[in-house]
Amino acid sequence: MILLRRCYRIFTGVAGAENADERIGLEAAARAGARTGKRPEAKSAAAAIRRAAGSDLAGLDILIEGNRIAAIGRDIEAPGGAEIIDASRHVVLPGLVNTHHHFYQTLTRNIPAVQDAKLFRWLVYLYEIWKGLDPEAVYWSSMLALAELAKTGCSLTSDHHYLYPQGFGQDIPSLQFEAAARIGLRFAPTRGSMSRSKKDKGLPPDSTVQDEGFILEHSQETIRRFHDPAPDGMRKVALAPCSPFSVSEDLMRRSAELARRYGVRLHTHLAETADEDEYCLRMYGRRPLKVMEDCGFVGPDVWYAHGIFFNDRELDLLARTGTGVSHCPSSNMRLGSGICRVREMLDRGVKVSLAVDGSASNDSSDMLGEARQALLLQRVRYGSAGIGAREVLGIATRGGASMLGFEEAGRIEPGALADLALFDVMKLEYTGAHSDPVAALLFSGCDHRVDHLLVNGKFAVRSGRLAMMDEEEIRINAGKAAERLYAKAGIA
Ligand SMILES: [Zn+2]
Repeated sequence: MILLRRCYRIFTGVAGAENADERIGLEAAARAGARTGKRPEAKSAAAAIRRAAGSDLAGLDILIEGNRIAAIGRDIEAPGGAEIIDASRHVVLPGLVNTHHHFYQTLTRNIPAVQDAKLFRWLVYLYEIWKGLDPEAVYWSSMLALAELAKTGCSLTSDHHYLYPQGFGQDIPSLQFEAAARIGLRFAPTRGSMSRSKKDKGLPPDSTVQDEGFILEHSQETIRRFHDPAPDGMRKVALAPCSPFSVSEDLMRRSAELARRYGVRLHTHLAETADEDEYCLRMYGRRPLKVMEDCGFVGPDVWYAHGIFFNDRELDLLARTGTGVSHCPSSNMRLGSGICRVREMLDRGVKVSLAVDGSASNDSSDMLGEARQALLLQRVRYGSAGIGAREVLGIATRGGASMLGFEEAGRIEPGALADLALFDVMKLEYTGAHSDPVAALLFSGCDHRVDHLLVNGKFAVRSGRLAMMDEEEIRINAGKAAERLYAKAGIA
């Protein structure tokens, strides 16, 4: 048991008491939707996020028993044997949720040759390095990404690993799940895939793509071995053909069928660049979302990364079908791709979550920093009232948890999963910002690091350091794996 004593502020992510009636109404609507099969969580999650303002609590204790929040209240009596943590300097958030990443890219960030490239040229250059990935590189890059995420407040993350080099020799999901268990994060990766290489007018080199029959077999095996459907599971699996320009339509369709057979979710990159629109019109004679729709790759169990180039009709289709979007602001700015229409998505009832994207286009896994980027970038598009701090935090917590299938995470209330990020705001960089301590995490601050991170009721980060892994061991081993990768590709 853990008792967080006198939390300076708590962002609960649920509507305040004054909105209780409305909240109950929304939940009833969601239950009714579930009975009739009409996208139950889409509208309610988006609406709950919009209404989460005014939900902060001050000076209260949080009692954690097992993997759940048992009680929130004033001066809770500490049960015998409970560890007491003084939280009087901390803003407490539900653990942040990252819904799109490519862990292996942590080893190839900031490469001068593609610092200024846009997506397609950037990909074609980097594939030549990534095709040299070995098991050590996958393992230590996963550790590195997970460690950075944990230290910046992320308790639940996905990963989109789609690159399976020929002759790799080990099972990639096994390596990644082991890394996540050692860091202590809740993990919902995807079994990604690429099947269309240069010889079939795709972008990736021939040695990085796989046979479609094998992809489907291995996807099925990965679900069977690792997917835990329990609402408080630490492991889930989704299927994620990489993009319309690296797999066939047939693989998209069969992946969707397989996912539905097992009740797992579906993910892919979509509507990231104008080049993608052109490619799909040329290859398929249809826009990217139409291709997905024709493959059965839309619905409340589907989320896309980026979603910048959807037109109005397409946004309505996303809302109507309950299909979600991972917003990746840093990557979109870094590659000059464009600005996702998050404001309009939320207003239309489209589900939105937040993601850092791969580390070759961010080039970090700073989760709280990403929330700040989302706040600022929407204002470039929509003006100073474009989006509020709590709305962004709602997307980054409950929005992501719901999108990945963890309906009991992403908020702080009795019964919810004990995934909590504690940020110390009694620091120089927050001084003068305490008129709104929760929003200060996005408007102010500089290092974005948690003091403590609890996942499933256990410390993943304690007093600013990883609780279960030696950080130097990760730094040294990931550094060596990166050097090996560069040497294989002939880059000094
Ligand atoms: Zn990506």
